[in-house]
Formats: sequence, structure tokens, C-alpha cells
Amino acid sequence: MTVSRVGVLGAGTMGRGIAQLAALGGYETVLYDVAPELAEAGAEGLRAALDKGAERGRWSVDEAIEAAARVETASALEELAGCGLVIEAAPERLELKREIFTALAEAVGPDPVFASNTSSLRVTEIAAGVPQPERVVGMHFFNPPALMKLVEVVAAERSSPEALARTTEVAERMGRTPIRAKDSPGFVANRLARPFSLESLRILGDGVADAATIDRAVRLGGGFRMGPFELLDLIGLDVNLEIARSFFAQGGEPERWRPSPIQEELVAEGRFGRKSGRGYHEYGDGQERETDPDLGISAPTLDPARLAKIDPAAEEILTRLFAQIANEAAFALEEEVASPEDMETAMKLGFNWPLGPLAITELIGPRRAVELLDLLRVEKGEAYAAAPQLRADAGQ
Ligand code: NAD
Repeated sequence: MTVSRVGVLGAGTMGRGIAQLAALGGYETVLYDVAPELAEAGAEGLRAALDKGAERGRWSVDEAIEAAARVETASALEELAGCGLVIEAAPERLELKREIFTALAEAVGPDPVFASNTSSLRVTEIAAGVPQPERVVGMHFFNPPALMKLVEVVAAERSSPEALARTTEVAERMGRTPIRAKDSPGFVANRLARPFSLESLRILGDGVADAATIDRAVRLGGGFRMGPFELLDLIGLDVNLEIARSFFAQGGEPERWRPSPIQEELVAEGRFGRKSGRGYHEYGDGQERETDPDLGISAPTLDPARLAKIDPAAEEILTRLFAQIANEAAFALEEEVASPEDMETAMKLGFNWPLGPLAITELIGPRRAVELLDLLRVEKGEAYAAAPQLRADAGQ
């Protein structure tokens, strides 16, 4: 069945961005929230965003007008009948999402596919108890949806191939790049990004370098747009800590995912990052970090001579970080979280990484990564246990 009408439940940050993409993709778009005024406020915000996009030349004025005309709001779930796909972007609570889909099933009948934009719940658990759980899938957009191209289409245990295909087709027509993800903790991009913050925090805790130096090494030698501590300050240390705790619990408490004690302490002190004026860095009156010098490094690199130009600790910082990125990717491959190609796409589009994690594995080389992990494991413990797959790739 070809979808012509798309429903969006929840007209908050994500819902309005997702509805905007649906309308621009040519779908009649129905936006619902718990109160009609909330749905209307969402639609207002969406129309303003369409106008702004036209002003900036991201689409034409005509396209913005046409897209806006495709958007309607609904005050009852029954009005979502006729939608081929309904995307849920309500608050991140399992019970709420289950209730929404159960009520929706009653209101709209058996045809629509239900897609949840959850970022941390198990889609299989959301689907449990919903009539026809085979029509429930995950459809994980990134914030802001209008700018982030990645969509993780999550296959729950009972999701049907038709439901997954329909969701993928809609994501494509929304101009996104869908990848297929297993229903596993944090899906693909957020999971593969774990070591970026966690290993950087361990490097900091070990006294290898301070936060500013680690950030600089990761930008200049690693080719990342932002260093790990600038990124944590931007996301919010409290928000990131919650994510870290959720991964640790859902993953069965593996040491490599243990939340950082440094971050626990800073959060307890109220140092949340940019929003509180202080995190790993200080944010005084408009004081921004200096522009990086041009060191003539074509990043990412592990070339010691080049890295030495950045800082004496840069090589240690990047080899440790890359070894753990390679390790997480190997664990994810073993668990069949996504295909190798989709893993690369996830990190380039979801986090703007200069290279995918498997290209990073190649850069460091599995053997060097395993040797370093084994060494660090003896010194520091199980956070450095190497994935069997990485060991196999290293020929061990
Ligand atoms: P938000 O709080 O901005 O919006 C949630 C909206 O859902 C609100 O407008 C609220 O009124 C509405 N709502 C509450 N109960 C509802 C119900 N029963 N039916 C319909 N709507 C209802 O939240 P958000 O940041 O847009 O997040 C929504 C979902 O997207 C969450 O599952 C979140 O984990 C996920 N997500 C968020 C981000 C992000 O960066 N914000 C990124 C990816 C995924």
C-alpha cells in the first residue's frame, strides 16, 4: 500500500519537526496532541519553520505554502483513520506509549503502521499488548529532525516486513536516510557513540590531559567537529548522565558502559554544561573558545609526528579513544545491531563523525586496538575487555 496520509502524535520538539518533514515529503499530515491548543501550537510552529526555511532558501516559497496546506490538526484519535503510518512522538514513558497505541488501534482500525520515535525504550515492549503488534516498529529521528538526515528504522521482535518496508519508504520520501536497526539498547548511533564520552572521561580521570586538551586532540587529530567535553557541555551533563545510566542498566551493567564518577560528581554540584554556565568548560559573557590553528594535519590521523604538533598527549588520547570506538563497533557487529554499512552511515549522519567506526577500526588496526585494550585491562579493569570479534579480526 502506498501511504498518502501520515499522522503524528505529540506536537512537541520532535513531533512538529517530523510533521514538517512529512508535509514537505508530499504527505497529507495530521498532527495530534492531548489538547487541541497544543496541536495547534505545534502546527503554528511548523508553519513558522516552513516560512523560515523558505527565507533561507532551503525550499521555495511555493513549496512552503503547499506543505503548510497539507497540515491539519486533530482533536480525536479517530481523525487519524486513513493514515498509512502514524508516528508517535509523545514523552519517553513506556506505559504512556503503550496506552497511546492501544487507544489508537481501537480508533483507527487494523491498517495503519504505528511507529514510535522512542530513543531509549524497547520497541518490543511498547508493542506488547497492542492489538496486532506486528504493525509496531521504531522510527528514531534525530534532533532537529529537519536537519538530521538519519532515521533508524527499528525492527521489534514481531514487526512485520511490510510494516518495516512502509516505514522505510516514508522516511525516504521525507528526504531522510533510513537504516535498519535491531531492537537493542540505544539502537545504533547512540550506542556506537558511547565510547566518545565514556573513554574521554576515563582519559580525563586517569590524568592523561585536561578537558580542553582532549577536546583539541579529538578535533585536530581526530577530525571531529567538536571534542567530547564541548559536546557534553552542549547536550547537558545531566541529560547525558541519564542516558549513560539507561545504557548501563539495559546492557546488563557492562563495565565499559559504567557511568563516569567524574560526571556524577559534576552533576551533583549542579554543573550541567552550557545551560548552567559551567560544565567541563566555563561559559562566561560570550566567551567562546579560540579558533583552532591550522597545523596542516589532514585528519583523522594516528601519525605520531603530526599528533605531537597538537600536544604530547594527543597520541595516547586518540589511540585510546579509537581502540574503544573499534571495540564498541565489534560488540555491535557481533550482536547484529546493524549492517556494517548502516553503522558507518549512522555515525556520519547521526553524529557528524568524519569516519564511521569501522573505518576508525581500520585506521588504528584491530591488532593495535586489541594490544592496547589488553594492556589497559590489566591496569584498569574490565572496561577494557576486548570484543571477541575484534580479537578475531586481529588474528588472535
Ligand atoms: P516534548 O516534550 O517536546 O513533546 C512531547 C509532546 O507529546 C508534548 O507536546 C505533549 O503534550 C505530547 N503528549 C503527551 N501525552 C500525549 C498523548 N497521550 N498523546 C499525544 N501526545 C501526547 O518531547 P520530545 O523531545 O519531542 O520527545 C518526544 C519523543 O521523541 C520521546 O520519546 C523522546 O525520547 C524522543 N526523541 C527525542 C529527541 C530529542 O532530542 N528531543 C530525539 C530523538 C527522539
